Amino acid sequence: MEFEEIKSQAKNCRKCNLWESRTNAVFGDGPTNAKVMLIGEAPGFHEDQQGKPFVGRAGKFLDELFKVANLKRENVYITNVVKCRPPNNRDPTDEEIKACYPYLDFQINYIKPKTIITLGRHASRIIFERYNLTFEGISKEHGKPREIFTLFGKLKIVPMYHPAAAIYNQSLKSVLIEDFKKVFDSV
Ligand code: URA
Ligand code: SF4
Repeated sequence: MEFEEIKSQAKNCRKCNLWESRTNAVFGDGPTNAKVMLIGEAPGFHEDQQGKPFVGRAGKFLDELFKVANLKRENVYITNVVKCRPPNNRDPTDEEIKACYPYLDFQINYIKPKTIITLGRHASRIIFERYNLTFEGISKEHGKPREIFTLFGKLKIVPMYHPAAAIYNQSLKSVLIEDFKKVFDSV
């Protein structure tokens, strides 16, 4: 199956230098016919260890967000902009993002989701650029769905704050909870 082939390519990928420090590439997790796709930035320590996205502390908070949105994790396809962990969780470079982007593009076009949630300013900016949308910063765009037309139909893109940024910030946490509630009440 094509999806599994591309996934195993990513597991052994050396297209950018992040392969050198990874334990496991984190391709993504969830059903390949998911209606909702969620895109984070890059794997962290636990994700790199386990080869799965959002299994650390940010993932725990994400589970709370799924609950308030009436979503089930097992129905959502979860991935990241780059598939290998940057050393010390630094931001991925433009070069790394560019090298890795074909995997994400493949995933989106294969899964054909109705809704993409982008987590944090980096993932949001990258997806906005890909679909020729102007990104005015996460503090302005969070929680506001944008609807576009793709080759596979209508696609809603919703930028959200990153759950990791909200762990120590109670007001961001409340904003994220409200955004998830609001957006999925109307889906
Ligand atoms: N943060 C991310 O952006 N992605 C993960 O998979 C985990 C933490
Ligand atoms: Fe390949 Fe992406 Fe990993 Fe770079 S981050 S080595 S492009 S899978």
